[in-house]
Amino acid sequence: MKYDVIIVGAGPGGIFSAYELVKKKPDLKIAVFEAGNELKKRKCPIDGDKVKSCINCKTCAIMNGFGGAGAFSDGKYNITNDFGGTLYEYIGKEKAIKLMEYVDQINVEYGGQDTKMFSTAGSSFKKVCMQNKLTLLEASVRHLGTDINYVVLENLYNLLKDKMDFFFNEPVQKVEIIDGGYRVSTGKQQAEGTKCIISVGRSGSKWMEDVCKDLAIPTKSNRVDIGVRVEIPAVIFEHITDELYESKIVYRTEKFEDKVRTFCMNPHGIVVNENTNGIVTVNGHSFEDPSKKTNNTNFALLVAKHFSEPFKDSNGYGESIARLSNMLGGGVIVQRFGDLERGRRSTKQRIEEGTVRPTLNATPGDLSLVLPKRILDGIIEMIYALDKIAPGMANDDTLLYGVEVKFYNMEVELDENLETNHKGLYVIGDGSGVTHSLSHASASGVYVADHIVNEYHS
Ligand SMILES: Cc1cc2nc3c(=O)[nH]c(=O)nc-3n(C[C@H](O)[C@H](O)[C@H](O)COP(=O)(O)OP(=O)(O)OC[C@H]3O[C@@H](n4cnc5c(N)ncnc54)[C@H](O)[C@@H]3O)c2cc1C
Repeated sequence: MKYDVIIVGAGPGGIFSAYELVKKKPDLKIAVFEAGNELKKRKCPIDGDKVKSCINCKTCAIMNGFGGAGAFSDGKYNITNDFGGTLYEYIGKEKAIKLMEYVDQINVEYGGQDTKMFSTAGSSFKKVCMQNKLTLLEASVRHLGTDINYVVLENLYNLLKDKMDFFFNEPVQKVEIIDGGYRVSTGKQQAEGTKCIISVGRSGSKWMEDVCKDLAIPTKSNRVDIGVRVEIPAVIFEHITDELYESKIVYRTEKFEDKVRTFCMNPHGIVVNENTNGIVTVNGHSFEDPSKKTNNTNFALLVAKHFSEPFKDSNGYGESIARLSNMLGGGVIVQRFGDLERGRRSTKQRIEEGTVRPTLNATPGDLSLVLPKRILDGIIEMIYALDKIAPGMANDDTLLYGVEVKFYNMEVELDENLETNHKGLYVIGDGSGVTHSLSHASASGVYVADHIVNEYHS
């Protein structure tokens, strides 16, 4: 099996590089290897009835398969250099924004035409944040919603499937350097490509580390974000979410001067489990379809933890905290803010007596037994700071789910073409450590595809 380009991973990074390659150079022979299933076969067995919690499937239907980790996400494509990755450090700010806008056009063309773009530009809310020691980060965001995001992916798959070879349920085990390119092996078969684009996302982070070791590609790693997912009645944040949909608000704590930020806001959404390498953490999403909207809004409050020498395993630190919550709660723990403040665990009864109906079936417990004091203090300070711009945020019945961990892949050393120290071997998307979002990952895919096409033409 010989190809011009082999793509490893069919998340947004892989999909958008495939899209751009066939668009700009349709004669290229391309193979896409994906650890998970094709889109329509992706089905998480948790049905809330027979299967109530994660059963650790061989490949996680939520994280793996066509569409990647983003397939059932809220589909928020943020166009900004302020968060979501550091692609601009490699390709420049202007280019990064242009590529994110290009990705947006494609999403609109392939099913997102009726969705809305929100923007912080000119928002009066910026001043209100400033007056309360909060910073609102600048961004435009296209909210596709979980349902339309799926439609866009379906349309892109239909477009691509006859123009290249897709190999599903075939995790690449090994990447080798051969004469004139790269050989990938899946255990079932081998394929050779002149160029190889690796886009394995967060779920492929451990595998990516092994590849970097095998091929002597330098890496670095030093960050993990740890926190909780907050669930409140949607009305409390409505004045903000109606205008901006998603607002990224940053607070600097008085006690430790740590940065706490809001992340992944889901108005009228649901809280969900996320499984990363067998560790169950929490996440959230929402639907465009009005019939699927809930009365709650959820978002994460995360504290960034940077480590310096000699400690290198920031993800290991995050995993240990998540494991502790899994050990105590059998999965995700939920606690009322009032119970946390009173130093007592939440119970099923206390949650039931509260005014906020949880959208995730989590175990009532005590997050102070899980989260390090410094992180917990930061989250509590942030809740009170947000209460000033959204009164009701610090109510006793506000629900906190833990833990939410944002793992960062180790950063792969790449040049301005997102190429490794081996010519023709590119690493893009979240698996590179450069991006942490749908828009940045997709943009990195387009960028590398354009680079490859230009090389053929030069
Ligand atoms: C529940 C949830 C909600 C989210 N919501 C948002 C949001 O609203 N907005 C936003 O910007 N971001 C969101 N994110 C993050 C976003 O999904 C990621 O940033 C994005 O998907 C990264 O794209 P990627 O292509 O780099 O990696 P991924 O999407 O992770 O795709 C990588 C693919 O590679 C495959 N793979 C891994 N290892 C191998 C291997 N060895 N061989 C072959 N294939 C392999 C995986 O199966 C996967 O399909 C969310 C994430 C989750 C989990």
